[in-house]
Amino acid sequence: MLEYIKGFFELVKGLGITGKHLTKHAVTLQYPEEKDVMPERSRGVVVLLSDKEDGSLNCTSCLLCMKACPTAAIIIDAPRGEDKKKVLKKFELDFSLCCYCGLCEEACNFSALKLTGKYEYSTGNKDDLIWDVHKLQDVGRDVDYVDKRKKKVKKVAPKPTVSEATDEIKPTQSADKIETKPVEIKTDKIKTDKIETPQDKDEKPKTEGEA
Ligand code: SF4
Ligand code: SF4
Repeated sequence: MLEYIKGFFELVKGLGITGKHLTKHAVTLQYPEEKDVMPERSRGVVVLLSDKEDGSLNCTSCLLCMKACPTAAIIIDAPRGEDKKKVLKKFELDFSLCCYCGLCEEACNFSALKLTGKYEYSTGNKDDLIWDVHKLQDVGRDVDYVDKRKKKVKKVAPKPTVSEATDEIKPTQSADKIETKPVEIKTDKIKTDKIETPQDKDEKPKTEGEA
């Protein structure tokens, strides 16, 4: 009997605590209808980033993120093709192994991979936690990022103009309209080396006897 009385008072005490909070704002949310704003540096899934202009993957298959990952969550297969360039055949990330450390993002020099705040990817199937390159890229398409890549700018040499190319006719002057002036040669100013003859020296040519 004493037990029942004691239990009744515990029940009233519990209802009193509940009643005290009935008039206050709830501290929990009705997830998934309601969602909290995540802190700026919260850690969610890792995604692959795409070029902002053409949408292609920024990844160069350098393998640095795979080597930096402490849990071997990243698997990349990128053999070299005939032109010696790497061809990305497989990029998988196993989120059942990932510890969200962000070392892969730090290792990447090509703004190709980022740890985001996205988190709603729980599943009952462990295999669904292995994301391939397409899913990693799709989830990362709306992720904003600072592009640290140094793009090579092709320098195109300017085309030579007609005058530079030929040194003959300027583009604004056709050949038949070119005025030609006769060249005046002032002979009085022309110096010639005078060849002295025996007559100039008043020397008679020697005959055979004189010689
Ligand atoms: S966040 Fe850490 S554990 Fe996860 S893939 Fe990147 S390096 Fe590996
Ligand atoms: S480090 Fe960056 S560029 Fe290199 S393989 Fe990983 S994601 Fe691609």
